[in-house]
This record gives sequence, structure tokens and C-alpha cells, in this order.
Amino acid sequence: MPKEDSLVIHEIYASIQGESTFAGLRCTFVRTTGCNLRCSWCDTPQAFYGGTRMARADVLTQALALGTPLVELTGGEPLLQPGTLPLLRELCDAGRTVLIETSGEADVSRVDPRVHKIMDLKAPGSGESHRNRWSNLDHIGARDELKFVLASRHDYEWMRDVVRARGLASRTPHLLASTVFGALSPRELVSWVMEDALPVRVQLQMHKVIWSADATGV
Ligand code: SF4
Repeated sequence: MPKEDSLVIHEIYASIQGESTFAGLRCTFVRTTGCNLRCSWCDTPQAFYGGTRMARADVLTQALALGTPLVELTGGEPLLQPGTLPLLRELCDAGRTVLIETSGEADVSRVDPRVHKIMDLKAPGSGESHRNRWSNLDHIGARDELKFVLASRHDYEWMRDVVRARGLASRTPHLLASTVFGALSPRELVSWVMEDALPVRVQLQMHKVIWSADATGV
């Protein structure tokens, strides 16, 4: 079977979208296995290893069968697998609104333009800031979202400087700022954002409020 005809999948399930401008909507999640980063605060280390190799056609069928208008590919890092690009296209062709959560290290240039890319920019507290692929910003448009996960004041100042220096608000109105659960208080983040009049959307990870910080498959 050619490599793009299958994917290693950790889980496929439906729940409420917990983050992004789509937060609160019903969504099918296709979680791929494997990631080439090791963010210090990663909340899905269970997806680093294991998983089941599935034919891409079966992944598509299972994802569509859950019946939500919204489908997200997430990981791990979905773009490490050659089957991800054609799967994204097929989900769009099937009429779904399609999201991909990606680390900011993987090349996003070949993602179908109908897909909403939700791309991290890794702050220093992640330990992976040096892996940001800045050329990816050339492929970020108004439908895409840039996400910062912040663990400290230092991370906040890094985000503030990146937003301003790289003119991120002119690329997309969707700049998302959230805190590492239990490391930085969302209240503090709100006060800093107000003080600096920063054009970001502060968000909570809704699924962690509804269930718990270490809940999986929700
Ligand atoms: S990129 Fe995402 S999945 Fe990979 S280590 Fe970082 S937070 Fe975890």
C-alpha cells in the first residue's frame, strides 16, 4: 500500500471543540500518532507512540460516520504522515468544515486552501521555540488561526513582541492566547493583554474546564 494510502491513528471520536474560534461546536477529532517535538507542557503524550495503521479510506469513512459538520485532524503532529494531505482534501470534498492542529514546525504550504489551519507558535517555555518554521507564516491567511500557549510572563512578552514585530494581526484576525493549565493564571494573562492592548483572543481550553486537565478522548 503506498504510504499516502494509510495513516497511523491514535483515536477517532466526536466531542465538543475545546479551543479556537470553533470552541463549543460539535466536532469529530481524528488524532494521528507521532510527534517530532516534545513540548514541556504537552497534554497528549499518549499520542507519541502506538496507534493503529488504518487505510485512509477507512479513516475517512469513520470520520464521516460520526456525522458532525466539523472535523479536525490533530495529534501528535498530523502533517508528519503523507496520508494527511489527501485526507484533508477528501474531508473538504465531502462538504465538512475541516481544521488541522499543527505544531508550527511542520511545513503547511501544501495543505488544501479550504482547510482552516490552527498553527502553534511555540513560546520559550515549551522548550521547542527554536523549531518554529517562520516561513509557514507566508501560508497563513484570514481563515487560519495562530495559537500561543503561555507558561509565564516571559512567554507572554515573547508573544507580544512576535505579534508586533511580525505584524501577525495583518495576516489573520485569529490570534489565540491560552495558558498552560496550572502554570499561568488566565486572570494574569487577561490583565497583561488589556495593559498592552494586544490584538489577541484569550481562550480557555474548554474541554479541560468541562472534564479535567488530564482527561483523554473527550
Ligand atoms: S507539538 Fe503538540 S503533540 Fe507535539 S509535543 Fe508539542 S504539544 Fe505535544
